[in-house]
Amino acid sequence: MKIVAGLSLKGLKPPVWYTGSPYYLSDLKAVMFPYADFHYMPARRRQAMEIGLHASFGIPSYMSIYLDNGAFRFSRDDGEVPRQDYEAFVAQAQPDWYAIPQDYIPTPRMSDDKQLECLQKTMDVNQSYSHDGYVPILHISRHLDEYLRQFKANEQLRSKPIFALGGIVPNLLRTPKAMSYREILDSVRQVRATFADRELHLFGVGGTATLHVAALLRLDSVDSSGWRVRAARGIVQLTGIGDRAVAELGNWKIREPSQQERKKLIKCQCPACQLYGLDGLKANLIYGFCNRATHNLWTLLEENRMIQKHLKDKTYVEWYKDHLHNSTYRPIIDQIIEDWKRAAGDQP
Ligand SMILES: [Zn+2]
Repeated sequence: MKIVAGLSLKGLKPPVWYTGSPYYLSDLKAVMFPYADFHYMPARRRQAMEIGLHASFGIPSYMSIYLDNGAFRFSRDDGEVPRQDYEAFVAQAQPDWYAIPQDYIPTPRMSDDKQLECLQKTMDVNQSYSHDGYVPILHISRHLDEYLRQFKANEQLRSKPIFALGGIVPNLLRTPKAMSYREILDSVRQVRATFADRELHLFGVGGTATLHVAALLRLDSVDSSGWRVRAARGIVQLTGIGDRAVAELGNWKIREPSQQERKKLIKCQCPACQLYGLDGLKANLIYGFCNRATHNLWTLLEENRMIQKHLKDKTYVEWYKDHLHNSTYRPIIDQIIEDWKRAAGDQP
């Protein structure tokens, strides 16, 4: 499974992709930009179109650049992604992976009619952009069957090599009328089974525990901007444990690290902790942010590395029981393992 680091043009530090930076992460193989950022920063947009995204940001050629449409950002101003501008940007800035220019996210609290309207509008865009490298989007919602029916009915869409899955996050967050964990798991499995040999990307995964869910459901890539969001709030992620507050920034009810967790942080092998230690993580301003962000992204990559290793060695089931202490997502992972045991198949 590939971890795609969500980036923001509003703050490009720490440059985790740049080999000359102390924050360089050699295991990072992909980054994602939201198109909305380029729309609101025309000079950046122009340069990326002139010399290409890789050159514009000094991103090495071995690293893939993903482009999300940023429809959510535009919707805050009651707007939509300007499609011709998006198409021109894709053609000239040359991202390696790019979503369709617009999707309409059904939130759990929407009525059935409203959700169906979102589905139809998203499917119309999927159909309009079925001709070349655009990655179609579908959302996990109460109407997944209808999504899959329409995909299967369209020859060009059903033969796409890559699909992107959205809409899981609002359901996982237990918002009002959210789907049950069981329904979410079954829905993702249904998509996986329908597009068995295709690449599936999951939008917007946040923490270390959700990586387990994504990996066990056999998704191929996930993106996360959580490493930056948490860093800005003074939060660091710990493998197997989740979030801990190390700097007092913002009013977030996040636990401080215990004595044992503090020891784990002191021994951390990420470039930021190796250079600046625990004091670097606790610091304020941009320096502290860069240290925490680098630490957080390194932690996601490390968690993923361990998950993949244990899945490959068929030791996952014994390993996760002692490794994973996250209370929110642990029941979902237990459920996936239970389902697997009942099916008596191979290890997940
Ligand atoms: Zn660290």
